[in-house]
Amino acid sequence: MKTQILGCCGRYIQGYGEIKNLKTYIDWMGENFLVIASKGRLRDLRDRIATALEGKHVTFFQFEKQITWEQIHHIEDLAKSTKASAILGVGGGKIADAAKVVAHDTGSHVVVVPTVSASDASTSATSLVYNEDGTIADVLCFPKSPDVVLADTEILINAPVRLFVAGMGDALSTYVGGVVCQDHYFDNHFGGVGTATALSVAKLSYDMLFRYGRQAKIAAEQKVLTDAFNIITEVNILMSGMGFENNGSASDHCFYFGTLALADREEYVYHGEGVAFSTCCQLIMQGASNEQLDQVYRFCRDVGLPITFEDMHLNNLTEEEYDIMAKAVLREPFIRHHPFPVTHEMVVGAYKTADAIGHIYHEGASLL
Ligand SMILES: [Zn+2]
Repeated sequence: MKTQILGCCGRYIQGYGEIKNLKTYIDWMGENFLVIASKGRLRDLRDRIATALEGKHVTFFQFEKQITWEQIHHIEDLAKSTKASAILGVGGGKIADAAKVVAHDTGSHVVVVPTVSASDASTSATSLVYNEDGTIADVLCFPKSPDVVLADTEILINAPVRLFVAGMGDALSTYVGGVVCQDHYFDNHFGGVGTATALSVAKLSYDMLFRYGRQAKIAAEQKVLTDAFNIITEVNILMSGMGFENNGSASDHCFYFGTLALADREEYVYHGEGVAFSTCCQLIMQGASNEQLDQVYRFCRDVGLPITFEDMHLNNLTEEEYDIMAKAVLREPFIRHHPFPVTHEMVVGAYKTADAIGHIYHEGASLL
């Protein structure tokens, strides 16, 4: 029996207006805190954070767009000069990722306050570092997950709806990729195999999406808090993050990454949007039933996740472009997390079929 590993954030807090209680949760971390946030989030939340952490020495750093090594080294210098014992990332996935890198390099605690639930970066132990041109420079996996993740639903309900929906797209991939890894004893992201706990979290997140995703989107549009919005917030931030790391990934992200290899095409979709279409491709490649495809396609169509290349803003793809994408997919390490060897023809076949089925659903027809 292979060794099983489970990792998750130290403490997860979700509630309306909880940012005002921040000190209660992180008081034990020390006296000097460094807060990283974008210009917009500093404008919205700086005063609230300063008030919540009254009595502590708090330094604020305005994060500039891209998470590059240059910017990280700059933040690390600031963390050292202010003797920060905790790094607080307040914002989206890139801010969370930056906070995790800085905290790891400087031996500090890490706190994530997501202001959007567009991806599962908040709770994960992984960070992506980019080059100036937007290409990925490094993928880092830390020995420790964030110490505290505080999801304030008063902040999250005011986030853009499209980002909330993108988070559901990222979450959709979790069980689809994870169950393949569990069934075939492929490693999870911590180098062990998944636990039963991990699989049940992933399955629960999958079921919750279909049960509550549509009405959660309506609540997000109305900017009103409902049970469904609450549950999907937990799905997007906690269950999706725990689920993907602890079960492992298959080709659920690979087909999306393949589309990024088209250098001449501009990228219009968010990570979670591209991942939703990618998940459809994986399901088709592995021979999912009409019933499962119907459930996934209907859900994506209803909430506004891409199900065709047109939705991905990739119109009129040429055979040469399919070839470029397929080769890129085959270079992805997790494409080997299938119990069969994946070939070029299978990748192109999955892409084209996923797109064709998407058109069927856009026309109001179905596979059933
Ligand atoms: Zn993802």
